[in-house]
Amino acid sequence: MSEDYRGMWKDLGLDLAGHDALLGVLSGAYRDIFLSQKNRPEGMGYFDFVMSEVHGLRIRELLDEKKTGRKIIGSYCVFVPEEIVLAANATLVGLCSGADFAMSEVEKLLPRNTCALIKSSFGFKLGKVCPYLESADMIVGENTCDGKKKAYESLGHLVNNLFVMDLPQVKSEQGRALLKSEYQRFRTAVEALTGVVITVESLMLAIQTVNAKRAAIHRLYSLRKADPAPISGLDALLANQVFFYDNPARFTDSVNKICDELEKRIAEKNGVFPEKTPRILISGCPQAVPNWKLPFIVETSGAVIVGEESCVEERGTRNLTDASGKTVDEMMEAIVDRYYQVDCAIFTPNPQRLEHIQEMAAAYKADGVIHYGLQFCQPYLMESIPVEKALEEKNIPTLRIETDYSMEDVGQLKTRIEAFVEQLR
Ligand code: SF4
Ligand code: SF4
Repeated sequence: MSEDYRGMWKDLGLDLAGHDALLGVLSGAYRDIFLSQKNRPEGMGYFDFVMSEVHGLRIRELLDEKKTGRKIIGSYCVFVPEEIVLAANATLVGLCSGADFAMSEVEKLLPRNTCALIKSSFGFKLGKVCPYLESADMIVGENTCDGKKKAYESLGHLVNNLFVMDLPQVKSEQGRALLKSEYQRFRTAVEALTGVVITVESLMLAIQTVNAKRAAIHRLYSLRKADPAPISGLDALLANQVFFYDNPARFTDSVNKICDELEKRIAEKNGVFPEKTPRILISGCPQAVPNWKLPFIVETSGAVIVGEESCVEERGTRNLTDASGKTVDEMMEAIVDRYYQVDCAIFTPNPQRLEHIQEMAAAYKADGVIHYGLQFCQPYLMESIPVEKALEEKNIPTLRIETDYSMEDVGQLKTRIEAFVEQLR
């Protein structure tokens, strides 16, 4: 990345020394984890470029958009509808963070036993190292797990214009009504921020844009069903992580190009791992950039990841929004219907998630499932037990992992994962 961006980072109020340290960690991890892989699809070159410019060119693009009056909205959860944001002439960026930063400052505001994802979001703010966060004109929090709910009370004192969205915890008529009224309230707030009233045309275009992005990623998922796997789980995860940052149309084209290449690879039986390599499905907490610890361990332990049941992958992206509505109200109903299907572990009861994991394990021909839970994440750790039982019913071996963002447990995790992979052979 060129020196040219330092002025931009300074203007955004970033702490340049801390930011340099973060970029150093990010680029070192990227080189060791991604660029060391063998026989990667050529189309991954685009994602390598995006990652090398994630704090550079992409931020410049967003700031140029801002100069034309476009607003930036940051979010921490897949329940924030990108369709509404795009229809009001704004851009949505994901803010979830996957690295520990400024932890001593974070622990002055949050208890130590808070999950790494929430702590990391605070660390990026307190350390002033996230240009997305500092560019945002509005930040959306959501009342999902208890940790996030309470953390947003503190975050509200650290950022300007925090919009907290209430979310249902039970899938019921009242639950859907709450989601609908919160999406209406969000629409009003976004329209007030941008000064743009959402119309039938703008909402239809936004639905089509986001659907195209999701359809491309669905195409990628379906190609991962092939044996030998045409793309590594790490590279597929990376494409899914970039989903939250990139220009939507450019992202869609780039994923479709990779898919064209993967179709050829499948026809030629050209895999990234040999045929019959043990196939793993990951299920559980989202893995945000640069949290690549678990997939790196799995894919250097003799297995390939063929699917991921998480908000960064299939749980977050799996359904399209019905685009047949003729009025803004009808389209808003379709948006509510689409997001209402997200089966996050904050819902109680949550049988849909168990069924989805069973379906995914069958569809991706997974030999085993690794349930990934972040330490102190009660919703996913609690649900890991019924998940294991549901998979036992289908005779699918499961390994439950509980970890954080530190590297201290890498050796221990590797030993457990290697033993699990051995059991699958
Ligand atoms: S796991 Fe739940 S809280 Fe986290 S991004 Fe997904 S839906 Fe939102
Ligand atoms: S659902 Fe779990 S991983 Fe997500 S923010 Fe809450 S505690 Fe953290």
